[in-house]
Amino acid sequence: MDSYRRAYAKVDLDAIKHNLTVTKKALKENMKLAAIVKADGYGHGSVPVSLYIKDIVDFFCVATLEEGVNLRYHGITNPILILACIPRNSYKESIVFDIRESVFTLDQAKKINDEAGELGKKISIHIAIDTGMNRIGFKPTKESADIIKEISEMENIDIEGIFTHFHSADESDLTSAKEQESLFRQFLDLLKSMGIKPAIVHASNSAAIVNGIGTDFDMVRLGITMYGVAPSNEVNLTNFNYKPALSIYSTITYIKRIKAGESVSYGATFKAEKDMDIATISFGYADGYPRDLSNKGYVLINGVKCNLIGRICMDQTIVDVSDVPNVNIGDMVVILGKSAGNSITVDELTKDSNTFSYEFICGINKRVPRLYYSNGEYVGKKDYIRDLYTMI
Ligand SMILES: *Cc1c(COP(=O)(O)O)cnc(C)c1O
Repeated sequence: MDSYRRAYAKVDLDAIKHNLTVTKKALKENMKLAAIVKADGYGHGSVPVSLYIKDIVDFFCVATLEEGVNLRYHGITNPILILACIPRNSYKESIVFDIRESVFTLDQAKKINDEAGELGKKISIHIAIDTGMNRIGFKPTKESADIIKEISEMENIDIEGIFTHFHSADESDLTSAKEQESLFRQFLDLLKSMGIKPAIVHASNSAAIVNGIGTDFDMVRLGITMYGVAPSNEVNLTNFNYKPALSIYSTITYIKRIKAGESVSYGATFKAEKDMDIATISFGYADGYPRDLSNKGYVLINGVKCNLIGRICMDQTIVDVSDVPNVNIGDMVVILGKSAGNSITVDELTKDSNTFSYEFICGINKRVPRLYYSNGEYVGKKDYIRDLYTMI
């Protein structure tokens, strides 16, 4: 391993593969898998992750055109779908790179059709249906169906897919998700009666997959659970032995003893009630440590849980090491992951704070290099400072 001493993240590529395999096993045969790698693969690195799993997934989904083009630059040839809207002046580029757009207005479809015509290409798109999220998508109405019919007749467009998105499939009460599914189904029936039958129908996100909602369509969209993180604490994952792929480490840079009555860090929000041993670690909110975890979170040092004391700073944080035997400057600090039989999961890390799992993993900053492991071996690094992914 390179000598990253300050802070680094490790990504267990086999855990991601395992999570995909576990998911595939739970689904009907021939179910297509779309791996969601938006936001740089939820902070795990979209390129190394996609390269590792490209042969066992069908689609990749991204949120921006640039994210999709980046995958193409790195040799990904799988179909890529953009799940959000892109600016009109980007349609041409998306066609050139054969990246599918989510379409939900007639205007958008007309423009894509024109651009594709000029390029002499026929482009696949997916129609987005809004069954309750109220973010993007056609409402499931007769008027929408008429527009979709019009789109289906456009010369340079192939409606390859159609999808909807659940807003609350990660809650214990699944009533709304089932209602959304039912609205989507009725709308598909309406389209079918008008002769429109897209080849790939998809609805389920991670939570819906686990809860078996929308899992009899043609494809599922797997995000957070692919990375081994729970969609929420209301989702029962006992049948899915998901393994977290990400772990984060830092280092003790300084240790000292303070006296009762002394305060720690900005704003003096922590005051020592007794003499204590404290350590400074090289990880702060500029690395993606939510500042809201100040005086709440903890790290693991030599397997011992150490509370964060005082405010998290930009680049450093102070922890209580009074209970850690033989603690030394240079010792490894586990921010996220395992240490001598103890572990911190993203759920534990973000519990009782005003952040949540998705936000935490997406928010790990580019200052933190990602090191990639496969079969326990170091196989690559994503060093954002030089912005290079180097295969070993
Ligand atoms: C991000 C996203 C997903 C993935 O959601 P997870 O909860 O991470 O599985 C699926 N579908 C759409 C439309 C999304 O935007």
